[in-house]
Amino acid sequence: KIVIDTRQLVKIYQNGSEELKVLDDVNIKVSNSDFIAILGPSGSGKSTLMNILGCLDIPTSGQYYLDGLDVLKASDNELAEIRNKKIGFIFQKFNLLPKLTAVQNVMLPLLYRGVKEEEAWETAREKLSILGLEARLHHRPNELSGGQQQRVAIARAIVGTPQLLLADEPTGNLDSKSSGDAMEIFKELNRQGNTIVIITHDIEVAEQVRKIFYIRDGKIHENG
Ligand code: ADP
Ligand code: ADP
Repeated sequence: KIVIDTRQLVKIYQNGSEELKVLDDVNIKVSNSDFIAILGPSGSGKSTLMNILGCLDIPTSGQYYLDGLDVLKASDNELAEIRNKKIGFIFQKFNLLPKLTAVQNVMLPLLYRGVKEEEAWETAREKLSILGLEARLHHRPNELSGGQQQRVAIARAIVGTPQLLLADEPTGNLDSKSSGDAMEIFKELNRQGNTIVIITHDIEVAEQVRKIFYIRDGKIHENG
């Protein structure tokens, strides 16, 4: 089963009268249970591609099917629902809500889709326990280390069992120990059948996945 299928994606930014073609004929297929890195230097278009794959932005032209769904034909409401149900996002800066505790942050995606509070709490608690944070449920993000915050973010990303985990430089703010721990978590999640796409400029991160797409001058090269 194919989770991500892009065809001839092109993204052009307009800066005044200048056109910048950031993605040029990008064709990517990612199967269920794949573990992929999109590797490229700064400015190569990784964030742009991530935003399109995450249904946060649309390409200038081309097609994108996510889990069989024609994303570019979806309305804004449908896109919001796709993001909430089909994709778990993980960011470099964790993007946790500072006033909420760990368990409250992890509950949010479930509450958004109408799961009852008690059930959401129990599911969130379970995910945090699996990630070794049983004793940190009621801590706020600023009371946690970077590595712990990223584990909370991973728990939030997986709590709704999405079809796709999309991680943008997930180890970029972590020391090497926490970075290694986070990669071990991704590997374990992949062994359990999760489809994972990691966007990174870090070759050491990319070397730990099953397949690398290298992005350069807007073009994608497989295992390049
Ligand atoms: P990366 O994530 O690999 O650093 P980006 O996708 O952020 O690359 O950016 C690729 C190129 O597109 C860069 O030259 C950047 O300055 C440019 N760019 C990104 N977003 C915009 C935008 N909204 N408008 C104009 N140019 C942009
Ligand atoms: P990253 O650290 O992921 O490479 P950037 O710092 O390149 O992120 O970009 C942060 C945000 O600013 C992104 O949403 C990107 O689309 C936007 N951006 C990047 N470059 C430009 C630009 N030249 N003009 C307008 N927006 C930009």
